Amino acid sequence: MKVVHFVSVVDPRKCNGDRLCEGLCPAGAIKVVEKKARVDATRCVACGKCADVCREEAVTLIRRDDPMAIGFNVAAVDPAKVQELCMKASLLPDLLVCACTGTLAGEVAAAVISGARSPEDIVARTGAGSGCGIYCMGVVFKLFQAAGIRIPEDPRWNNLPLTAADVPEVVSEKYPAYYFRGRI
Ligand code: SF4
Ligand code: SF4
Repeated sequence: MKVVHFVSVVDPRKCNGDRLCEGLCPAGAIKVVEKKARVDATRCVACGKCADVCREEAVTLIRRDDPMAIGFNVAAVDPAKVQELCMKASLLPDLLVCACTGTLAGEVAAAVISGARSPEDIVARTGAGSGCGIYCMGVVFKLFQAAGIRIPEDPRWNNLPLTAADVPEVVSEKYPAYYFRGRI
């Protein structure tokens, strides 16, 4: 769960429509329409990346009138399905996916089951990926892979990480002392 206190706003007089912000926004919250960037406040997680990248200093983060809580309500989804998807991805549902927001694998799995189909959806719905973005998306992609969702080729997101569960059976059998299959 993350509480977002700020939201980005664009000064259209300064914006030149070069889309630098759009290409960097992890939540898909800022889009250029008719050569001017526009922000969807319902998706903005106030990461500040758009303001950092804007050469025209057209973006400002301002305080929201009402802070926006983001985090997926796992209770709204069948727990058996959450468990099943996490296990298929070789993840425990209470594994911490995003240290910046405290998001768990079960929350991400519930978001996927409820229709999240892109990294931007996951960021906007769960908050995971709205901070440093270094570790979380690899785990998110394991859940995408388990759910049969195409993993986008996008330099914003890290590649799918390999874990002990990805070691081939023949290797794990040859080196039992390393417990590649674990003892969950
Ligand atoms: S980076 Fe700045 S100038 Fe470029 S589209 Fe975004 S707000 Fe406009
Ligand atoms: S989520 Fe981040 S990059 Fe996207 S509009 Fe909000 S502050 Fe800018």
